[in-house]
Amino acid sequence: MPELPELVVWARQFRAEIVGKAITTAETPQPKCLNAPPDEVAAFLTGRGVKDARERGKWLILDLAPDGHLLLNLGMGGDFHYRRPGARSAAPPEKYQFKLTFSDGSELALRFSWFGYVHIARSGELARHAMTASLGPSPLDPDMDVARFRRMVAARPRRSVKSFLLDQKVLAGIGNVYAQDPLWGARLHPDRQLGSLSPAEVDALWASLRGVLERSIAKGGLAYERDLYGNLGGYGREDYDVAYRTGEPCPRCGAAVQKIKTGATSTHLCPECQKL
Ligand SMILES: [Zn+2]
Repeated sequence: MPELPELVVWARQFRAEIVGKAITTAETPQPKCLNAPPDEVAAFLTGRGVKDARERGKWLILDLAPDGHLLLNLGMGGDFHYRRPGARSAAPPEKYQFKLTFSDGSELALRFSWFGYVHIARSGELARHAMTASLGPSPLDPDMDVARFRRMVAARPRRSVKSFLLDQKVLAGIGNVYAQDPLWGARLHPDRQLGSLSPAEVDALWASLRGVLERSIAKGGLAYERDLYGNLGGYGREDYDVAYRTGEPCPRCGAAVQKIKTGATSTHLCPECQKL
């Protein structure tokens, strides 16, 4: 499932490839993912330009010209298929949920397994788009810093640190892949209550979280997710500290990594470095 680093990579590639283009057609073979009837969505998008692209949690938001927005969410997993004008390779897949064509002949198809969304927001409607308006800031937002992170932690003393990291309404874009190694980096058991964390532990968690996200972005995102050009990311198992490494030695102390249940998710941790 794509998380923040993958979204950051996509948004960057959207800015390089899609921004500046005008939409000529919008097809939705499976209209379930839409927030308006397909003909209304097509009429809204056709003729609009793409002004900017950015990530918002696990959403990709395209700002349109002269107005409005297109919001994309690949749900539990999926990919984009982008084809440059005239390119013979990388034809769109046979099955897709949504496809845009642009005035220069390029095409962008979206395919997702389930829970994906293609939503439109007209001018002034973005703030009322409940699924994105309710999201917290991303840890990589320019206005996020350690001081704000400390305040977010201090406001929720009874929350467990793992559920805090995964709560999209608090901090957007982190899923189970990227929540585990920051906890190891800050030597925190996932069930620790935020109120029990020392200021140094909170700062260590922030630094570790940012570090893990930036490391993945630098490598193009997760090794099993494809970018806009169909290339796999470079952030693989060998880059994880303890995530998905049950039984392997902790890189810090050598103790065997364990996998435990934490609410609805599981967490890999070092039983020596991350005591409750
Ligand atoms: Zn350890």
